[in-house]
Amino acid sequence: MTQSTLVSQADGTLARRGLMFILSSPSGAGKTTIARMLLDHDPHICNSVSCTTRPPRPGEVDGKDYHFVTAETFERMVDDGDFLEWATVFGHSYGTPKAQVKAGLKEGLDYLFDIDWQGTQQLYQKLERDVVRVFLLPPSIEELRRRLTGRGTDSAEVIQGRMERARSEISHWDGYDYVVINDDVAGCFGQVRHILQAERLRRARQTGLIGFTRELLNPDD
Ligand code: 5GP
Repeated sequence: MTQSTLVSQADGTLARRGLMFILSSPSGAGKTTIARMLLDHDPHICNSVSCTTRPPRPGEVDGKDYHFVTAETFERMVDDGDFLEWATVFGHSYGTPKAQVKAGLKEGLDYLFDIDWQGTQQLYQKLERDVVRVFLLPPSIEELRRRLTGRGTDSAEVIQGRMERARSEISHWDGYDYVVINDDVAGCFGQVRHILQAERLRRARQTGLIGFTRELLNPDD
């Protein structure tokens, strides 16, 4: 028996089912930074691109950051069952398109989801075994306020609104499998990567193990 008969993928690893890696946090807890670092450093995880009815912000690219769609298109997609989950967040609709993710998971692709607690709950209800839920917390309420105050150009009212939304998001911390306090970015990123690596090794995701162990146990078959 040669090593090549024990592995089944082009890169020499065992075949496995992909996972859905959900990162949620209140805004100001560093979710976007950590998500970007993960995508930059790990070639085996890709971004799940959501559809949204919110207009693009400067610099955002259609098809990369979001699929920007009209309210009519979004409603039609909801009616057609095209979303794995969808939610209204701050007055705009957001949804995860189903087709691409379902096909990718079968091929062993991991998807990163930057979605809120409502979407997380829905994905968990539908695809519990594929979902890994990670929540990021700020180190303190003072630090969160500092991060949400930005360059000091926003009114006290705007900042207060952000703080209230952040508090409401934080209250859902107990709907997650892992909670990481983002005290310093490098440390937080390291912990998030460890979670991803460990979750990839779960027996149930390693679909190639059946053949692999059969060959280990019966090398002469
Ligand atoms: P933003 O408009 O700032 O990009 O995102 C606003 C909120 O919508 C964030 O909390 C983000 O996590 C959430 N969000 C983005 N895409 C989706 C999605 O497909 N589904 C759900 N449920 N929430 C989403």
